[in-house]
Amino acid sequence: MKSGQQSGQPVAGKVYLVGAGPGDPDLLTVKAQRLISGAAIILHDDLVPPSILALAPPSAQVISVGKRYGAKGTTQSEVNERMIAAVQQGLDVVRLKGGDPGIFGRLAEEIDALDAAGVAFEVVPGVTAGIAAAASLGISLTDRRKAARVIVMTNHQAPGDANADAADWRGLIRDDSTLVIYMPGHDFANLSAQLLAAGCSADMPAAIVSRATVPDERYRFSTVGALDKLPLMNSPTILLVGRSLDSAQFRANSTAARAFNEAELLLSSLEA
Ligand code: SAH
Repeated sequence: MKSGQQSGQPVAGKVYLVGAGPGDPDLLTVKAQRLISGAAIILHDDLVPPSILALAPPSAQVISVGKRYGAKGTTQSEVNERMIAAVQQGLDVVRLKGGDPGIFGRLAEEIDALDAAGVAFEVVPGVTAGIAAAASLGISLTDRRKAARVIVMTNHQAPGDANADAADWRGLIRDDSTLVIYMPGHDFANLSAQLLAAGCSADMPAAIVSRATVPDERYRFSTVGALDKLPLMNSPTILLVGRSLDSAQFRANSTAARAFNEAELLLSSLEA
């Protein structure tokens, strides 16, 4: 928590940089829920679903400042200006971001702008998509028998990003890593080729989770060698890669096999 002063003038309000979690309102923190339900003004990203925004009081100004998929939305400096302007009017601002604000959420840029303006802020963490996706698959991202580290990364390369040169996968690939790949894109043939070229085994388990924790969540299992066979799924999607997925893949296969057998039994009993 910080207290802000600008040119000797006390600034009344404060900005809460709040993680809204992966989508399911039940996965909000109690603190996030309290801040949303008491908010005067909410500036939110596109990833925050209507079911969470509905928790705001009717009196709240609920403003989308999303800029998803490069669509012409609000620029980062406009977001910063809006936060600062609201605070200078004496309002507390809830800046609501999908997942955790500090994971691919431009949190650092907003903190820099608030610091520069002498505005007080507080970060409220949220459940990030990678953690939520692992829970949906029923896996542990670490496993002392086979997954010693978790790498949170993105496959998205925007011009000007520090990682604009193709991701250096070689430094990341180890048999005991779980990769959590945000914004994986759609070019899985290329991704598969890069991972294989960096030394990843073709049989390394992978899973894509689409819309984790919301009612139309879907997931599919694959391997690094067969990533290009994955169907196109609704965004947002996240890709997990690693031996930590072994048990979930086994379970999915056996559940599918069981369901198939049950369906066959039912059919044959109907035919009898
Ligand atoms: N701050 C967010 C991430 C923002 S970047 C967080 O901590 O989760 C946006 C990317 O996050 C999406 O492209 C996708 O890869 C991932 N993502 C966010 N919500 C998701 C969800 N419900 N299911 C799957 N992936 C999700």
